[in-house]
Amino acid sequence: MLDTVSNRPDLPPEIARRRTFAIISHPDAGKTTLTEKFLLFGGAIQMAGQVRAKGEARRTRSDFMQMEKDRGISVSASAMSFDFNEFRFNLVDTPGHSDFSEDTYRTLTAVDAAVMVIDGAKGVESQTRKLFEVCRLRDLPILTFCNKMDRESRDVFEIIDEIQENLAIDVTPASWPIGQGRDFVGCYDILRDRLELMDRADRNKVAQSIEIKGLNDPELAKHVPSNLLDRLREELEMARELLPALNPQAVLEGHMTPIWFGSAINSFGVKELMAGIGMYGPQPQIQSAEPRNILPEETKVSGFVFKVQANMDPKHRDRVAFVRLASGHFKRGMKLTHVRTRKPMAITNPVLFLASDRELAEEAWAGDIIGIPNHGQLRIGDSLTEGEILRVTGIPSFAPELLQGVRAGDPLKSKHLEKALMQFAEEGAAKVFKPSIGSGFVVGVVGQLQFEVLASRIELEYGLPVRFEASQFKSARWVNGDRQAVEKFIDANKQHIAHDNDGDIVYLTRLQWDIDRVERDYPDVKLTATKEMM
Ligand code: GDP
Repeated sequence: MLDTVSNRPDLPPEIARRRTFAIISHPDAGKTTLTEKFLLFGGAIQMAGQVRAKGEARRTRSDFMQMEKDRGISVSASAMSFDFNEFRFNLVDTPGHSDFSEDTYRTLTAVDAAVMVIDGAKGVESQTRKLFEVCRLRDLPILTFCNKMDRESRDVFEIIDEIQENLAIDVTPASWPIGQGRDFVGCYDILRDRLELMDRADRNKVAQSIEIKGLNDPELAKHVPSNLLDRLREELEMARELLPALNPQAVLEGHMTPIWFGSAINSFGVKELMAGIGMYGPQPQIQSAEPRNILPEETKVSGFVFKVQANMDPKHRDRVAFVRLASGHFKRGMKLTHVRTRKPMAITNPVLFLASDRELAEEAWAGDIIGIPNHGQLRIGDSLTEGEILRVTGIPSFAPELLQGVRAGDPLKSKHLEKALMQFAEEGAAKVFKPSIGSGFVVGVVGQLQFEVLASRIELEYGLPVRFEASQFKSARWVNGDRQAVEKFIDANKQHIAHDNDGDIVYLTRLQWDIDRVERDYPDVKLTATKEMM
């Protein structure tokens, strides 16, 4: 057994050593840089600079297109695996732009924890807060990395206070920065009583670490200027009085976040954070499903699709379903049951994502993410098992907030357009509605930028110029309820009715008033803004 904090003591060692997590942050806080350093220290890449994508804030439309073309690591390699100490990390990438919040939400259903990166000069920013709220919905454990400590940053107590106040979570310092900005020399590792010194000269080198016997160890004075040392002692004393001590159980329950200070670009504080994820981050957790929950230690394999990505390699029109394994020990060639269709599927060429290379997965364990190439059978929310009819729950589909009509530049190509749209719908990149009256499609997304990305991808991947245009409809609701009542409702409202890409009935609305009217006139019909993928 590993000497870690666990709330799942019965896991086999291979599962117990897995840590599956995502990084949440505001654009520019340093997510890409930190990811790169994780991969570097995880031995997955040889040198920094191989992770291509830059901060989301600076991304323009053409960057997106280029990224789609390149399928560079940060944006499209949705999952990366690497080893550190005795742990196997699976880092699942979250699209950082707020326009992709639905995708992000689903990604967070596939992880057991999140690492929150904040900029030491900026503290908690809007996007961090939004993503944090999503984590909160699932009580995901959160570990915090306060980045860019090599620059002028805010007072440490102030940063911690802001997190506690803004996010309503207890914060406990795992390390404490010594000095600030240009005078920043490193951190005191509170959890392991060590002094970590930053090496500004070599950004790819792991920082120097010095074992210390408490704060009165004379060793300290050899490395830290006396004014900074006095301040460190003072601050740590205050911290001990004012801030809660690390409570591993509270971390696992998502009520407390340990915070590490560092500088990703200088590779500083990163390995302490990684060790912390190993020690205090959760092992693979129980997966909610119907009719029963799934335990990771079960010997039978099960998993679910949380993301589908098409055309990862534009030369082959393949699509890859990203599957989070919920239980068992998977081996290549296994036959699994595709629960939605009850059909067997032989998984002959699953891939593991080892940094920039896809690699054939010979085996994988609960907690891992594998990619399954397929021709469209696998959709978001699908469950795979060794035969038992189990359906993983909690993977939602949201009603889009923006609707537009779409037309092929060449009217003769509308069949092609339909194919392209269906593919993006299955990827989860957009909702596609086919109105029951008239031709054409209504496309729904969460953020405006997605229309642009879609238009460029349809052109790039299908050679099909398209035009998005205003739609008379403003939002969409799924229609449920008593069958007869639903039929009567459909008959009377044909001009509002459409089918989504799964064939489910949707009511397209122009005004909130439409929804109020249905609720009043059809009490047996239910309109919902989310549907559970199944
Ligand atoms: P992302 O948008 O969150 O992925 O952020 P990036 O990793 O792209 O970083 C945004 C900018 O901050 C880049 O210019 C980085 O070089 C810079 N940066 C990242 N980490 C640090 C750090 O520790 N110190 C300093 N000074 N700059 C950093």
